[in-house]
Amino acid sequence: MVGKKDYDNFLAKRTAELIRENFSHKGVTNLLVVKTGGKWKRTLGHIKPLKGSSGDSLIEINSLLFDLDVPEFVLNYVIMHELTHYFQGFCSNHEKRHRHPHKGGVVEKELERRGWKEIQEKSDKWIKNNWDKILLKNDIDPTVKRKTRKGFKWKSFFR
Ligand SMILES: [Zn+2]
Repeated sequence: MVGKKDYDNFLAKRTAELIRENFSHKGVTNLLVVKTGGKWKRTLGHIKPLKGSSGDSLIEINSLLFDLDVPEFVLNYVIMHELTHYFQGFCSNHEKRHRHPHKGGVVEKELERRGWKEIQEKSDKWIKNNWDKILLKNDIDPTVKRKTRKGFKWKSFFR
């Protein structure tokens, strides 16, 4: 039986590969922990300060992304999104170049520069068309309460 620990190991390995392949000019300059998060309905991943540390970072990835129906490029893309925040200085000790983590499409632009434009578009499309099916398959009601649906954007899947 594959469990959380296996997912965590997989994430650590995959994240290290993605950093090596895409951000080798930057380097990891603090403790960066990557872990499997909850089965969240509307968050694919997030980055935050690691609790109880001074200046370390924690990335958590929605554990539903390990569902066998989710293509691997989507999982990679979610990790890349959070890594982009990391290297743009959000919840990390890297130099902060932007005031807001998403305004002006700074993540998308960075991913484009790193050659991820196609995967980004493919992933966004896949998420839009398939995420609710993944929720249903895992016994999670995909309906969003009216209050939160107002102004809801697919991009807000990312934190
Ligand atoms: Zn984000």
